[in-house]
Amino acid sequence: MFDLLIKGGRVIDPASDTDGYLDIGVTNGLISAIGPNLEDENPGKVMQLKGELVIPGMIDLHVHIIQGAATPGVNEISGPPDLAGVSSGVTTVLDAGTVGAWNFGVHLHHVAGKSRTRLLSMLNIGKFGIPGQALRKPEIYTLEDVDQDATIQLASDYKDLIQGVKLRLVGPAVEDLGYELISLAKETAREAKLPLMIHIGDLIGHSSNAQTLTRHVLKTLEEGDIITHICTSVPGGVLDPNGKVLPELREAEANGVIFDPAHGRSNFNFEVAKMISNQDFHPHTISTDLTLNGRKGPIHGLTETMSKFMAVGYSLEQVIKMVTIAPAKAVKMEKTIGSIKVGSDADISILSHKKGKWKFEDAQGNPFTGEDALIPIHTIIKGDMVSLDWGPHPWGWAPADAN
Ligand SMILES: [Zn+2]
Repeated sequence: MFDLLIKGGRVIDPASDTDGYLDIGVTNGLISAIGPNLEDENPGKVMQLKGELVIPGMIDLHVHIIQGAATPGVNEISGPPDLAGVSSGVTTVLDAGTVGAWNFGVHLHHVAGKSRTRLLSMLNIGKFGIPGQALRKPEIYTLEDVDQDATIQLASDYKDLIQGVKLRLVGPAVEDLGYELISLAKETAREAKLPLMIHIGDLIGHSSNAQTLTRHVLKTLEEGDIITHICTSVPGGVLDPNGKVLPELREAEANGVIFDPAHGRSNFNFEVAKMISNQDFHPHTISTDLTLNGRKGPIHGLTETMSKFMAVGYSLEQVIKMVTIAPAKAVKMEKTIGSIKVGSDADISILSHKKGKWKFEDAQGNPFTGEDALIPIHTIIKGDMVSLDWGPHPWGWAPADAN
């Protein structure tokens, strides 16, 4: 009866408050049974686990996976979708604005439908998306770099692929266009009936105006909009010069704005993450901002980023929630993904949780240690098992050993 029977795992599904030793039956790509000691006389495949973690298919809310054309930047930074996705234990990835309206065709014709991973995207408000190598160039110098009509049209034509509009507040636009650009992006997202994701942290211009603009952003965003890079230490972050969380941040949280940390090569700072958390302010999701270079370090992958957040002080259950039901809600797909329930797509990540003394590095190269490592073992997407790759380290998926 079952195509796949997963036995002996510890199922943790924050969406249904489940944490227990349960078996899962999969039939025709869907979860068909959940319960203790499920039996089947003639199953297709049986996966016998020894207490490993069985969690909903993980969702990475911020990656760069659009490649396959020589349009500005696309090839230089992005990796193939499965590298950030199923090969890393992740079943859904969201490309955060690698392309804009004028080169969205790269996503459509060169990327979509060519990987096992479930792909979502945010369309960059800059019409050519992220130009230049390593995200270090801005996409918007003047308002001519935005094609509002084309952005709205595409969002309505490709509802399955486009989940939002993305604006990066970086470079000269922070000084020259700030308020105008934020209004234009918000208006575009509103007309497209999509959330707006705003990147804070002026990693290019290091403008002294960046934090003033972040405060304005926090007042402008509405329920369901997303701030990405919440743990950044570059100008434009959410801690004031005295290290206090901006009051506008709490107002934005009360208004239903979603906070995502997106590690990246510049935007996860361990001290900032701790200082925010100590003031009882917490990101809703965990994402990598993975690029080819970022996979080599300091990001490595979603599971290692989760392990870093456990080193900051978040519990196992919290970090699982931050990569499952929380990002599923952020893209309004909680009916399909982000939980383990009978009838839903069988997207499942199987991880091992290893205690030890692990060595990590934040985006500024600051070392820190933690006691928990999450390591991917198997990925199941729509009921199919997909192999992981070797992992980002010479020794595989575990973080560096601090001993
Ligand atoms: Zn990014």
